[in-house]
Amino acid sequence: MSVLAGMACLDCVVLSPPMGDGGYLGAPSLRQAPVAVPEIAESLPTFAHLYAPLEAIGLRTSECEVFRDWLVRHDTHRVALYMDAEPPEVAEIGSDPNWKREYVLEERKRQDESDAAVAAGAFRDAIYRVRCSGCEAVFEAPQVERLRAFEAILVTSHTIDDLLARWTPIVTHDSPNAYRLLGLLDTHEPFLEQLLAFFRSHRGHTVQVDLVEGEEH
Ligand SMILES: [Zn+2]
Ligand SMILES: [Zn+2]
Repeated sequence: MSVLAGMACLDCVVLSPPMGDGGYLGAPSLRQAPVAVPEIAESLPTFAHLYAPLEAIGLRTSECEVFRDWLVRHDTHRVALYMDAEPPEVAEIGSDPNWKREYVLEERKRQDESDAAVAAGAFRDAIYRVRCSGCEAVFEAPQVERLRAFEAILVTSHTIDDLLARWTPIVTHDSPNAYRLLGLLDTHEPFLEQLLAFFRSHRGHTVQVDLVEGEEH
């Protein structure tokens, strides 16, 4: 059985919104420089560092956006990533008899807010698509995902370089930088690796990304 990760603000004694299925994306920090994470025994690139190229290509999942908002609110606090050993503050959360109910209520509130953001047009349940107009090549995500809405973005070579440098070690499972993510960011699904390959082979071409309506299932 693999280990579940968790993140919590030790100052506020609250858990973070979930990332994947008990996973994480980088050290939970908005700094750009790597952060030492005792659980992992080496410095980890931060969430902000790994998420920046995804933002630049419009791959802004609802889950990452919610997590980023949470980090912004706890920016100057002690935010911990833990795996095997929970910090004492997290044990304190679990000792509150109402914590499970509160967590469920919190989840429901997040879901309602997420649905309201879709209704308001800030997010869309859509298919993420990349196109190279020079080669007339198209690559689409295999499923609908809830993403921050945007018009077409022209992806620069600089963005592609950042994306490849920061995400190739993740998709080749060569790093502890991302763990147990779901949906389009699931590193055990082929999507991310195929997306990187598309950008790699069309670097320097006219590459655009946009969102298209998904089919109802
Ligand atoms: Zn806090
Ligand atoms: Zn091309």
